[in-house]
Amino acid sequence: MNWHLRGFVLLVLFAAFGLGSAPAQPAMQPTVDITQVPAAAQPSAHFDADAATEAYMAMIPPAATARSNAYFEGSYWLILWDFLYAAAIALLLLNLRWSAKMRDLAERVTRFRWLQDALYWGQYLVLTSLLGFPLGFYEGYVREHKYGLATQSFGPWMGDQCKALLVSLVLGGIMVILLFAIVRKLPRTWWIWGSIAALALMVGAVAISPVYLQPIFNKVTRLNDPKITVPILHMAHANGIPTNDVYQIDASRQTTRMSANVSGFANTMRITINDNLLRRGSPEEVQAVMGHEMGHYVMNHIPKSIIFLLVVIVAFFAFLRWALDWTLARWGTRWQIRGVGDPAVLPLVLLLAGIFFFVLTPVMNTETRTQEKEADMFGLNAARQPDGFAQAAIHLSEYRKMRPSPVEERIFFDHPSGYDRIHSAMVWKGENLELFEKTPAQPAVH
Ligand SMILES: [Zn+2]
Repeated sequence: MNWHLRGFVLLVLFAAFGLGSAPAQPAMQPTVDITQVPAAAQPSAHFDADAATEAYMAMIPPAATARSNAYFEGSYWLILWDFLYAAAIALLLLNLRWSAKMRDLAERVTRFRWLQDALYWGQYLVLTSLLGFPLGFYEGYVREHKYGLATQSFGPWMGDQCKALLVSLVLGGIMVILLFAIVRKLPRTWWIWGSIAALALMVGAVAISPVYLQPIFNKVTRLNDPKITVPILHMAHANGIPTNDVYQIDASRQTTRMSANVSGFANTMRITINDNLLRRGSPEEVQAVMGHEMGHYVMNHIPKSIIFLLVVIVAFFAFLRWALDWTLARWGTRWQIRGVGDPAVLPLVLLLAGIFFFVLTPVMNTETRTQEKEADMFGLNAARQPDGFAQAAIHLSEYRKMRPSPVEERIFFDHPSGYDRIHSAMVWKGENLELFEKTPAQPAVH
Protein backbone atom coordinates (compact mmCIF):
# COMPACT_ATOMS: atom_id res chain seq x y z
CA MET A 1 0.00 0.00 0.00
CA ASN A 2 2.78 2.36 -0.89
CA TRP A 3 1.23 3.86 -3.97
CA HIS A 4 1.02 7.29 -2.52
CA LEU A 5 -1.02 9.95 -4.14
CA ARG A 6 1.20 12.50 -5.85
CA GLY A 7 0.40 15.15 -8.41
CA PHE A 8 1.68 15.40 -11.91
CA VAL A 9 0.53 18.85 -13.00
CA LEU A 10 3.10 20.33 -10.62
CA LEU A 11 5.66 18.31 -12.54
CA VAL A 12 5.61 21.02 -15.19
CA LEU A 13 5.76 23.70 -12.51
CA PHE A 14 8.73 22.26 -10.63
CA ALA A 15 10.54 21.26 -13.79
CA ALA A 16 10.22 24.86 -14.95
CA PHE A 17 11.90 26.03 -11.75
CA GLY A 18 14.83 23.71 -12.37
CA LEU A 19 14.45 21.64 -9.21
CA GLY A 20 15.36 18.62 -11.29
CA SER A 21 19.04 19.21 -10.84
CA ALA A 22 19.36 18.51 -7.10
CA PRO A 23 22.69 16.67 -6.83
CA ALA A 24 22.74 13.27 -5.17
CA GLN A 25 25.39 12.87 -2.50
CA PRO A 26 26.41 9.44 -1.28
CA ALA A 27 25.23 8.25 2.12
CA MET A 28 27.89 8.41 4.80
CA GLN A 29 29.52 5.03 4.93
CA PRO A 30 31.74 3.51 7.60
CA THR A 31 35.35 4.42 6.91
CA VAL A 32 36.63 1.11 8.24
CA ASP A 33 36.31 -2.19 6.40
CA ILE A 34 33.25 -3.71 8.03
CA THR A 35 34.03 -7.15 6.66
CA GLN A 36 36.95 -7.37 9.09
CA VAL A 37 35.72 -9.13 12.23
CA PRO A 38 36.78 -6.86 15.14
CA ALA A 39 39.12 -8.34 17.76
CA ALA A 40 36.45 -8.52 20.49
CA ALA A 41 34.16 -10.49 18.14
CA GLN A 42 36.82 -13.10 17.25
CA PRO A 43 36.20 -16.53 18.76
CA SER A 44 38.14 -17.02 21.98
CA ALA A 45 37.83 -18.59 25.40
CA HIS A 46 36.70 -15.26 26.85
CA PHE A 47 34.25 -14.31 24.05
CA ASP A 48 31.70 -11.88 25.44
CA ALA A 49 28.57 -11.05 23.38
CA ASP A 50 28.17 -7.55 24.90
CA ALA A 51 31.80 -6.62 24.20
CA ALA A 52 31.58 -8.09 20.67
CA THR A 53 28.45 -6.04 20.01
CA GLU A 54 30.12 -2.83 21.21
CA ALA A 55 33.14 -3.58 19.01
CA TYR A 56 30.87 -3.75 15.97
CA MET A 57 28.97 -0.61 17.05
CA ALA A 58 32.29 1.24 17.36
CA MET A 59 32.91 0.67 13.64
CA ILE A 60 30.23 3.22 12.77
CA PRO A 61 31.71 6.76 12.78
CA PRO A 62 29.91 9.15 15.20
CA ALA A 63 29.05 11.53 12.34
CA ALA A 64 27.30 8.71 10.47
CA THR A 65 25.34 7.80 13.62
CA ALA A 66 24.28 11.43 14.14
CA ARG A 67 23.12 11.61 10.55
CA SER A 68 21.09 8.41 10.52
CA ASN A 69 19.58 9.26 13.93
CA ALA A 70 18.45 12.63 12.56
CA TYR A 71 16.97 10.96 9.47
CA PHE A 72 15.18 8.26 11.43
CA GLU A 73 13.87 10.54 14.19
CA GLY A 74 12.59 12.89 11.48
CA SER A 75 10.41 10.03 10.27
CA TYR A 76 8.66 9.89 13.68
CA TRP A 77 7.50 13.48 13.14
CA LEU A 78 6.52 12.74 9.56
CA ILE A 79 3.99 10.20 10.82
CA LEU A 80 2.32 13.10 12.65
CA TRP A 81 2.69 15.65 9.83
CA ASP A 82 1.42 13.16 7.21
CA PHE A 83 -1.63 12.52 9.36
CA LEU A 84 -2.37 16.21 10.06
CA TYR A 85 -1.74 17.26 6.46
CA ALA A 86 -4.07 14.56 5.08
CA ALA A 87 -6.69 15.46 7.70
CA ALA A 88 -6.50 19.13 6.66
CA ILE A 89 -7.00 18.20 2.99
CA ALA A 90 -10.01 16.02 3.85
CA LEU A 91 -11.61 18.79 5.95
CA LEU A 92 -10.99 21.28 3.16
CA LEU A 93 -12.73 19.05 0.60
CA LEU A 94 -15.69 18.55 2.93
CA ASN A 95 -16.15 22.07 4.28
CA LEU A 96 -15.69 23.87 0.97
CA ARG A 97 -18.08 21.21 -0.46
CA TRP A 98 -15.59 20.40 -3.24
CA SER A 99 -16.35 16.76 -2.57
CA ALA A 100 -20.08 17.33 -3.19
CA LYS A 101 -19.25 19.31 -6.34
CA MET A 102 -17.09 16.49 -7.73
CA ARG A 103 -19.99 14.09 -7.15
CA ASP A 104 -22.44 16.48 -8.85
CA LEU A 105 -20.13 16.71 -11.85
CA ALA A 106 -19.86 12.89 -12.06
CA GLU A 107 -23.67 12.67 -11.93
CA ARG A 108 -24.03 15.14 -14.77
CA VAL A 109 -21.64 13.11 -16.96
CA THR A 110 -23.30 9.69 -16.57
CA ARG A 111 -26.33 8.04 -15.02
CA PHE A 112 -24.54 4.75 -14.25
CA ARG A 113 -23.79 4.62 -10.51
CA TRP A 114 -20.56 2.63 -10.85
CA LEU A 115 -19.24 5.03 -13.47
CA GLN A 116 -20.14 7.98 -11.22
CA ASP A 117 -18.07 6.35 -8.44
CA ALA A 118 -15.15 5.88 -10.85
CA LEU A 119 -15.36 9.47 -12.13
CA TYR A 120 -15.50 10.77 -8.59
CA TRP A 121 -12.42 8.69 -7.73
CA GLY A 122 -10.47 10.08 -10.68
CA GLN A 123 -11.24 13.69 -9.69
CA TYR A 124 -10.55 12.99 -6.02
CA LEU A 125 -7.21 11.34 -6.77
CA VAL A 126 -5.94 14.15 -8.99
CA LEU A 127 -7.08 16.89 -6.59
CA THR A 128 -5.63 15.28 -3.44
CA SER A 129 -2.40 14.46 -5.29
CA LEU A 130 -2.01 18.12 -6.20
CA LEU A 131 -2.84 19.34 -2.69
CA GLY A 132 -0.59 16.69 -1.15
CA PHE A 133 2.33 17.36 -3.46
CA PRO A 134 4.32 19.84 -1.32
CA LEU A 135 4.67 17.42 1.60
CA GLY A 136 5.08 14.41 -0.69
CA PHE A 137 7.82 16.18 -2.63
CA TYR A 138 9.68 17.13 0.54
CA GLU A 139 9.33 13.65 2.01
CA GLY A 140 9.99 11.56 -1.06
CA TYR A 141 12.50 13.72 -2.89
CA VAL A 142 14.12 16.63 -1.00
CA ARG A 143 14.64 14.78 2.27
CA GLU A 144 15.89 11.59 0.60
CA HIS A 145 18.45 13.61 -1.37
CA LYS A 146 19.49 15.59 1.71
CA TYR A 147 20.45 12.33 3.44
CA GLY A 148 22.09 10.84 0.37
CA LEU A 149 19.59 8.00 0.08
CA ALA A 150 18.07 8.93 -3.29
CA THR A 151 19.64 8.26 -6.68
CA GLN A 152 16.99 9.75 -8.97
CA SER A 153 16.97 13.24 -10.43
CA PHE A 154 13.64 15.04 -10.51
CA GLY A 155 12.46 13.86 -13.94
CA PRO A 156 12.67 10.09 -13.31
CA TRP A 157 11.33 10.56 -9.76
CA MET A 158 8.32 12.42 -11.10
CA GLY A 159 7.91 9.71 -13.74
CA ASP A 160 7.63 7.13 -10.94
CA GLN A 161 5.08 9.32 -9.15
CA CYS A 162 2.96 9.46 -12.30
CA LYS A 163 3.14 5.68 -12.68
CA ALA A 164 2.12 5.29 -9.02
CA LEU A 165 -0.79 7.64 -9.64
CA LEU A 166 -1.99 5.50 -12.57
CA VAL A 167 -1.69 2.32 -10.48
CA SER A 168 -3.75 4.03 -7.74
CA LEU A 169 -6.28 5.16 -10.34
CA VAL A 170 -6.86 1.58 -11.52
CA LEU A 171 -6.54 -0.43 -8.28
CA GLY A 172 -8.15 2.25 -6.10
CA GLY A 173 -10.89 2.65 -8.70
CA ILE A 174 -11.73 -1.06 -8.58
CA MET A 175 -11.83 -0.89 -4.77
CA VAL A 176 -14.07 2.22 -4.74
CA ILE A 177 -16.55 0.81 -7.30
CA LEU A 178 -16.80 -2.51 -5.46
CA LEU A 179 -17.14 -1.05 -1.96
CA PHE A 180 -19.79 1.53 -2.88
CA ALA A 181 -21.78 -1.18 -4.70
CA ILE A 182 -21.68 -3.27 -1.51
CA VAL A 183 -22.70 -0.31 0.69
CA ARG A 184 -25.71 0.45 -1.52
CA LYS A 185 -26.83 -3.18 -1.92
CA LEU A 186 -26.39 -4.13 1.75
CA PRO A 187 -27.09 -0.97 3.77
CA ARG A 188 -27.17 -2.81 7.12
CA THR A 189 -24.33 -5.34 6.83
CA TRP A 190 -22.01 -3.52 4.39
CA TRP A 191 -19.24 -3.23 6.96
CA ILE A 192 -18.89 -7.05 7.21
CA TRP A 193 -18.95 -7.71 3.44
CA GLY A 194 -16.96 -4.56 2.77
CA SER A 195 -14.12 -5.69 5.03
CA ILE A 196 -14.00 -9.10 3.35
CA ALA A 197 -14.00 -7.51 -0.13
CA ALA A 198 -11.29 -5.03 0.90
CA LEU A 199 -9.09 -7.82 2.23
CA ALA A 200 -9.64 -9.95 -0.90
CA LEU A 201 -8.57 -7.02 -3.09
CA MET A 202 -5.49 -6.43 -0.94
CA VAL A 203 -4.48 -10.09 -1.14
CA GLY A 204 -5.01 -9.89 -4.90
CA ALA A 205 -2.72 -6.84 -5.05
CA VAL A 206 -0.04 -8.65 -2.98
CA ALA A 207 -0.29 -11.68 -5.28
CA ILE A 208 0.06 -9.73 -8.54
CA SER A 209 2.67 -7.35 -7.12
CA PRO A 210 5.92 -9.20 -7.97
CA VAL A 211 4.74 -10.12 -11.45
CA TYR A 212 2.74 -7.07 -12.54
CA LEU A 213 3.38 -4.12 -10.20
CA GLN A 214 7.12 -4.24 -9.37
CA PRO A 215 8.10 -4.37 -13.08
CA ILE A 216 6.27 -1.07 -13.65
CA PHE A 217 8.90 0.66 -11.53
CA ASN A 218 11.97 -1.60 -11.65
CA LYS A 219 13.64 -4.30 -13.66
CA VAL A 220 13.30 -7.69 -11.96
CA THR A 221 15.48 -10.49 -13.33
CA ARG A 222 16.62 -13.97 -12.34
CA LEU A 223 19.95 -13.81 -10.59
CA ASN A 224 22.50 -16.04 -12.31
CA ASP A 225 25.81 -15.56 -10.56
CA PRO A 226 26.61 -19.05 -9.20
CA LYS A 227 28.94 -17.55 -6.57
CA ILE A 228 25.90 -15.91 -5.01
CA THR A 229 23.10 -18.29 -5.95
CA VAL A 230 24.71 -21.69 -5.14
CA PRO A 231 25.05 -21.11 -1.36
CA ILE A 232 21.64 -19.42 -1.28
CA LEU A 233 19.92 -22.31 -3.07
CA HIS A 234 21.67 -24.84 -0.80
CA MET A 235 20.25 -22.95 2.15
CA ALA A 236 16.81 -22.79 0.52
CA HIS A 237 16.69 -26.53 -0.23
CA ALA A 238 18.00 -27.40 3.24
CA ASN A 239 15.09 -25.43 4.71
CA GLY A 240 12.33 -26.87 2.55
CA ILE A 241 11.99 -24.03 0.05
CA PRO A 242 11.42 -25.73 -3.34
CA THR A 243 12.84 -23.01 -5.55
CA ASN A 244 15.60 -22.90 -8.10
CA ASP A 245 15.46 -19.16 -8.62
CA VAL A 246 16.57 -16.09 -6.76
CA TYR A 247 15.42 -12.76 -8.17
CA GLN A 248 17.26 -9.47 -8.26
CA ILE A 249 15.82 -5.98 -8.58
CA ASP A 250 17.57 -2.78 -9.74
CA ALA A 251 16.59 -0.79 -6.63
CA SER A 252 19.63 1.44 -7.24
CA ARG A 253 17.43 3.17 -9.80
CA GLN A 254 15.71 4.91 -6.86
CA THR A 255 17.78 4.45 -3.72
CA THR A 256 21.12 3.61 -2.13
CA ARG A 257 19.41 1.43 0.50
CA MET A 258 20.47 -2.21 0.69
CA SER A 259 17.64 -4.69 1.11
CA ALA A 260 15.98 -7.94 0.16
CA ASN A 261 12.41 -9.11 0.57
CA VAL A 262 9.85 -11.84 0.26
CA SER A 263 6.90 -10.80 -1.87
CA GLY A 264 3.84 -12.29 -3.50
CA PHE A 265 1.29 -14.80 -2.32
CA ALA A 266 0.82 -18.51 -3.11
CA ASN A 267 2.26 -19.14 -6.59
CA THR A 268 3.89 -15.73 -6.94
CA MET A 269 5.78 -15.88 -3.63
CA ARG A 270 9.50 -15.27 -4.18
CA ILE A 271 12.66 -13.94 -2.61
CA THR A 272 14.20 -10.88 -4.23
CA ILE A 273 17.57 -9.35 -3.44
CA ASN A 274 18.35 -5.78 -4.41
CA ASP A 275 21.37 -4.77 -6.46
CA ASN A 276 22.74 -2.45 -3.73
CA LEU A 277 23.10 -5.44 -1.44
CA LEU A 278 24.64 -7.53 -4.21
CA ARG A 279 27.18 -4.84 -5.00
CA ARG A 280 28.14 -3.72 -1.52
CA GLY A 281 27.52 -6.75 0.68
CA SER A 282 30.13 -9.43 1.37
CA PRO A 283 29.14 -13.05 0.48
CA GLU A 284 28.67 -13.74 4.24
CA GLU A 285 26.41 -10.72 4.53
CA VAL A 286 24.31 -11.71 1.51
CA GLN A 287 23.87 -15.20 2.99
CA ALA A 288 22.90 -13.76 6.39
CA VAL A 289 20.26 -11.52 4.77
CA MET A 290 18.90 -14.34 2.63
CA GLY A 291 18.65 -16.58 5.70
CA HIS A 292 16.48 -13.88 7.25
CA GLU A 293 14.26 -13.67 4.15
CA MET A 294 13.88 -17.44 4.08
CA GLY A 295 12.67 -17.19 7.68
CA HIS A 296 9.76 -15.06 6.46
CA TYR A 297 9.04 -17.69 3.83
CA VAL A 298 9.33 -20.82 5.99
CA MET A 299 7.38 -19.29 8.89
CA ASN A 300 4.55 -18.20 6.54
CA HIS A 301 4.76 -14.58 7.54
CA ILE A 302 2.77 -13.31 4.55
CA PRO A 303 -0.29 -15.57 5.20
CA LYS A 304 -0.05 -14.79 8.93
CA SER A 305 0.06 -11.05 8.22
CA ILE A 306 -3.04 -11.42 6.07
CA ILE A 307 -4.90 -13.04 8.97
CA PHE A 308 -3.71 -10.24 11.25
CA LEU A 309 -4.84 -7.72 8.64
CA LEU A 310 -8.27 -9.35 8.50
CA VAL A 311 -8.75 -8.64 12.21
CA VAL A 312 -7.55 -5.05 11.78
CA ILE A 313 -9.75 -4.43 8.73
CA VAL A 314 -12.90 -5.84 10.35
CA ALA A 315 -12.21 -3.63 13.40
CA PHE A 316 -11.69 -0.65 11.08
CA PHE A 317 -14.95 -1.23 9.19
CA ALA A 318 -16.86 -1.61 12.46
CA PHE A 319 -15.34 1.70 13.62
CA LEU A 320 -16.14 3.22 10.23
CA ARG A 321 -19.80 2.24 10.41
CA TRP A 322 -20.18 3.83 13.82
CA ALA A 323 -18.08 6.92 13.07
CA LEU A 324 -19.77 7.63 9.71
CA ASP A 325 -23.23 7.53 11.32
CA TRP A 326 -22.05 9.86 14.07
CA THR A 327 -20.32 12.42 11.84
CA LEU A 328 -22.94 12.41 9.07
CA ALA A 329 -25.73 12.98 11.60
CA ARG A 330 -23.91 16.14 12.73
CA TRP A 331 -22.32 17.57 9.59
CA GLY A 332 -23.72 15.54 6.69
CA THR A 333 -26.14 18.29 5.58
CA ARG A 334 -23.48 20.97 5.82
CA TRP A 335 -21.09 18.88 3.68
CA GLN A 336 -23.99 18.00 1.29
CA ILE A 337 -23.32 14.28 1.69
CA ARG A 338 -26.46 12.19 1.20
CA GLY A 339 -25.32 9.11 3.08
CA VAL A 340 -22.79 6.29 3.35
CA GLY A 341 -23.49 5.17 -0.25
CA ASP A 342 -22.68 8.63 -1.69
CA PRO A 343 -19.16 8.79 -3.21
CA ALA A 344 -18.84 12.35 -1.80
CA VAL A 345 -18.32 10.65 1.59
CA LEU A 346 -14.86 9.45 0.51
CA PRO A 347 -12.75 12.26 2.09
CA LEU A 348 -14.52 11.54 5.38
CA VAL A 349 -13.81 7.80 5.06
CA LEU A 350 -10.12 8.50 4.46
CA LEU A 351 -10.02 11.02 7.33
CA LEU A 352 -11.43 8.35 9.67
CA ALA A 353 -8.96 5.80 8.24
CA GLY A 354 -6.15 8.28 8.94
CA ILE A 355 -7.23 8.62 12.59
CA PHE A 356 -7.66 4.85 13.05
CA PHE A 357 -4.29 3.86 11.58
CA PHE A 358 -2.46 6.79 13.21
CA VAL A 359 -3.56 5.48 16.61
CA LEU A 360 -2.68 1.93 15.55
CA THR A 361 0.91 2.82 14.53
CA PRO A 362 2.57 1.03 17.50
CA VAL A 363 0.34 -2.04 17.05
CA MET A 364 1.12 -2.38 13.33
CA ASN A 365 4.85 -1.80 13.97
CA THR A 366 4.91 -4.37 16.77
CA GLU A 367 3.25 -7.01 14.62
CA THR A 368 5.85 -6.49 11.89
CA ARG A 369 8.78 -6.18 14.31
CA THR A 370 7.82 -9.45 16.00
CA GLN A 371 7.95 -11.27 12.67
CA GLU A 372 11.24 -9.56 11.79
CA LYS A 373 12.74 -10.76 15.07
CA GLU A 374 11.58 -14.32 14.28
CA ALA A 375 13.16 -14.05 10.83
CA ASP A 376 16.40 -12.78 12.40
CA MET A 377 16.63 -15.82 14.65
CA PHE A 378 15.73 -18.19 11.81
CA GLY A 379 18.31 -16.51 9.59
CA LEU A 380 21.11 -16.87 12.14
CA ASN A 381 20.40 -20.59 12.44
CA ALA A 382 20.00 -21.16 8.71
CA ALA A 383 22.93 -19.09 7.40
CA ARG A 384 25.29 -19.45 10.40
CA GLN A 385 26.83 -16.11 9.50
CA PRO A 386 26.61 -13.98 12.66
CA ASP A 387 29.38 -11.68 11.44
CA GLY A 388 27.70 -11.30 8.05
CA PHE A 389 24.51 -10.47 9.94
CA ALA A 390 26.34 -7.82 12.00
CA GLN A 391 27.74 -6.35 8.76
CA ALA A 392 24.21 -6.13 7.35
CA ALA A 393 23.01 -4.32 10.49
CA ILE A 394 25.84 -1.81 10.07
CA HIS A 395 24.94 -1.23 6.43
CA LEU A 396 21.30 -0.69 7.42
CA SER A 397 22.47 1.90 9.97
CA GLU A 398 22.72 4.29 7.01
CA TYR A 399 18.99 4.85 7.30
CA ARG A 400 17.98 3.39 10.65
CA LYS A 401 18.70 4.46 14.19
CA MET A 402 20.99 1.87 15.78
CA ARG A 403 20.40 2.36 19.50
CA PRO A 404 16.86 3.58 20.33
CA SER A 405 15.34 3.62 23.81
CA PRO A 406 13.11 0.59 24.55
CA VAL A 407 9.92 2.71 24.37
CA GLU A 408 11.06 4.28 21.09
CA GLU A 409 11.71 0.83 19.65
CA ARG A 410 8.25 -0.41 20.65
CA ILE A 411 6.40 2.54 19.13
CA PHE A 412 8.33 3.39 15.98
CA PHE A 413 10.40 0.38 14.91
CA ASP A 414 9.05 -2.13 12.39
CA HIS A 415 12.35 -4.07 12.63
CA PRO A 416 14.52 -4.85 15.64
CA SER A 417 17.06 -2.05 16.16
CA GLY A 418 20.58 -2.43 14.76
CA TYR A 419 21.99 -2.87 18.25
CA ASP A 420 19.50 -5.64 18.99
CA ARG A 421 20.33 -7.40 15.71
CA ILE A 422 24.10 -7.32 16.26
CA HIS A 423 23.61 -8.41 19.86
CA SER A 424 21.42 -11.39 18.84
CA ALA A 425 24.08 -12.35 16.30
CA MET A 426 26.89 -12.14 18.87
CA VAL A 427 24.91 -14.13 21.46
CA TRP A 428 24.34 -16.77 18.77
CA LYS A 429 28.03 -16.75 17.91
CA GLY A 430 29.01 -17.06 21.57
CA GLU A 431 26.84 -20.16 21.90
CA ASN A 432 28.26 -21.70 18.69
CA LEU A 433 31.93 -20.84 19.01
CA GLU A 434 33.02 -24.32 17.92
CA LEU A 435 31.80 -23.49 14.39
CA PHE A 436 34.33 -20.69 14.12
CA GLU A 437 37.37 -21.81 16.08
CA LYS A 438 39.05 -23.70 13.24
CA THR A 439 39.04 -20.72 10.90
CA PRO A 440 39.06 -17.80 13.29
CA ALA A 441 40.05 -15.15 10.76
CA GLN A 442 37.26 -15.42 8.21
CA PRO A 443 34.36 -17.78 8.89
CA ALA A 444 32.61 -18.87 5.74
CA VAL A 445 30.02 -21.57 5.16
CA HIS A 446 29.76 -22.93 1.66
ZN1 LIG B 1 12.47 -9.08 7.18
